[in-house]
Parts: sequence; structure tokens; C-alpha cells
Amino acid sequence: MLRRVLCFAFLIALLAVSQVGYAAKAATSLQTNEQAGKRLLAVIKTAGASTAPGREQLTQIRWANHIDAVTGAGRLRIVIDATGPVQAAGSLEAATTPRLVVNVKGAVPGQTDCDLTLDGRIADSVTMKADDGKNTVIVVDMPLLADEDGYKVFTLPQDPANKKPFRVVIDINQPFPPIKFNFTPGLKGKTIVIDPGHGGSDPGAIGLSGLQEKAVNLAVSLRVKALLDKAGAKVLMTRQDDRDVFGPNASAVDELKARASVANFKKADIFVSIHANAATNRDADGTTTYYFQKTRYDSLLARNLQAGMVQAVGLKDKGFLTANFYVIKRTIMPAALVELAFLSNPAEEKLLANPQIQQKMAEGIVQGMERFFAQAAKGGEQ
Ligand SMILES: [Zn+2]
Repeated sequence: MLRRVLCFAFLIALLAVSQVGYAAKAATSLQTNEQAGKRLLAVIKTAGASTAPGREQLTQIRWANHIDAVTGAGRLRIVIDATGPVQAAGSLEAATTPRLVVNVKGAVPGQTDCDLTLDGRIADSVTMKADDGKNTVIVVDMPLLADEDGYKVFTLPQDPANKKPFRVVIDINQPFPPIKFNFTPGLKGKTIVIDPGHGGSDPGAIGLSGLQEKAVNLAVSLRVKALLDKAGAKVLMTRQDDRDVFGPNASAVDELKARASVANFKKADIFVSIHANAATNRDADGTTTYYFQKTRYDSLLARNLQAGMVQAVGLKDKGFLTANFYVIKRTIMPAALVELAFLSNPAEEKLLANPQIQQKMAEGIVQGMERFFAQAAKGGEQ
């Protein structure tokens, strides 16, 4: 474990603390939407006479998927009825699994705990639990984390004219239209996102002679971009110079989310993050590629990038390995993260600083991409 990559320390750390703040937003005129889909999934309990004074209850929960007729965008609405006024606010959490956590103040579930299974399009399940005997925590588990501005949590007052009680409403937009992969051979016309790891306030790993990982990553990335441009691919860089992608000193999760969002919103074909490795053991050396198998093509991409780099540069082949890193997990297209070589190894630090070796690394990556598209076009066979 001492050989574990240091430059990932912050990636791992943020998985443990990735909570994003959120302020509840007010809502207006929602009746039309709400009437569009009513699917009663669970009656928690009618409040009845047992309601203690000053303590409201959540009595019903229902959900429905809505499809926007114009854009085709999907949205999940979850509505929870309450016996009286409550306060509600939500926050997104990326770890340990993507979820929206909604805290409801001033009401408890009418019955004991409540678990619902949804259809998995936008959310997999909703769990409600009493909190402190006075409040409720609602956890919405989702297959892909919603965007920070892609959800709303708000309350609605009682509406006697329409026989509607107090309500808590949770709206979650489908993050992205579902993607069908239909790969063709060749680099021409492909949209490829290159993510030079770190940058700006985050230097990444630092070699013994002071070489910073962010500079190596950017230098190799720009060479990859030049080769891809020449081959007719459309290249998107998450950064083109020495900067933070989200903003200076952004939280680690905002920074990584910003990088993944570039690829997701542009509907890129593949996403490749470029890093250099580091370890406490100075002898550690070689090239590694990481992937997270969220599509059937992620490992195929990693395998080809790894083979391309090993063939072009000739460093030790440490293999292509699965990992739970944010940018390869939260991108919705095949993605891989390459560790070119070890900055912590003095010999490899020299190689990483050498423009000719940087060029060879870039060539290896581009060859790997080309082979990936050729194999993916055949359905991804070996
Ligand atoms: Zn790194």
C-alpha cells in the first residue's frame, strides 16, 4: 500500500467528504405539473388523532416521471404530503453512492421508516427515516449524480380549494439524455475530451527536482490535442493552461465535477484524463491506466491506452486497473485516467520533463485511442 499513488490522495479524500451545500429554492405555480403525474406509491399513514400537538407528520409519498414535450428532457418529481407546515432543504452527496439527502424539519414519518423502489431512470429508491424524533431525513439514491442546479427541494402550502395538504416537493432533472454508443473506426469527427490533471492552485505530485505534475500533464495533453487535431478529431480540453477548471481554490468535488461536466454536456465520445504518478518508494516506476467499468467500453479504452503508451515509450507495464475515481466514474462516456510515469522516480522525472518523451507519450495515447475506436466499432471484442 505504500506504493499507492500519492497524486490520488486528494481524489480518495474527497470521496469521503464530498458533500455539496444547497439552499432550498422557492417555487411558484406548480399545480399543472403536479397534476400531470400522480402515482401513489405508499401511504405512510394517515395522521389521525394520535398526532402530538406541534409535531406534524408526513402522510403520503408519491412520485412520477415527466418528459418535457419540447426538449425530451426527463424529470422526476417526488411529492410528500404533510399534516402541517414543514421546512425542507436538500444537498447532493457523491459518496459513497450518488444521492440527494433532504432534511425535513418539523415532521416525522407517519409510520415507522419507509423505503420505496423507483424505476431507476433518475432515482433508484427513496428512504425516509425519523431524525431526532422531530425531523425526517429523506435519501434519494440515484444511478448518476444530479447536477447541482439540476434539482429543487421546496415546500407548498395547504391548498383547501383544491383539497391539497401541505407538501414537500423534490424535483430532480435527468442528468443527461441516455446515450447510445455507436462507435465507428478512425479518429476523424470524434469528440474527445482531454483532461490535464490538476492545475492552478493544485500542482498535483511534485518530483524530487521540483517538476510539478500539473505542468507535465498539460504538456503531454497539448501534444495529444495537436495530434488529434491533425487527425480530424474535435478536441475539448478541460483546461488549456495552468488553471483550476471550476475556479481558484474550489472544493475538490466541484473541481472534478467541472471536469466531468465538460465531457458530459458536450456528449464526447471518450474522456481521457492525463496524470503522472508518485509514490513514497523512489524506485516505483512504470505506466498505469485506470478505468471504471460504467459502460461496456471503459476497460477496452484503458487497455488500448495502456498498450499504446507501453509500446511507444517502453516503460514498465503496470497494467490497466479498475478504480473508483471521480472523473472516470461520473463521465457518461467511456473514460480512462492514465498515469504516464512516476514523478517520484528521479529517472522517470527526467523522462517526464523531456519534450521528446512527452511527444512519444502523446503518440502512444493517440495510437491507443485509434485502436480503441477500431475495436469498439466491432462491438468491443478483443
Ligand atoms: Zn494526478
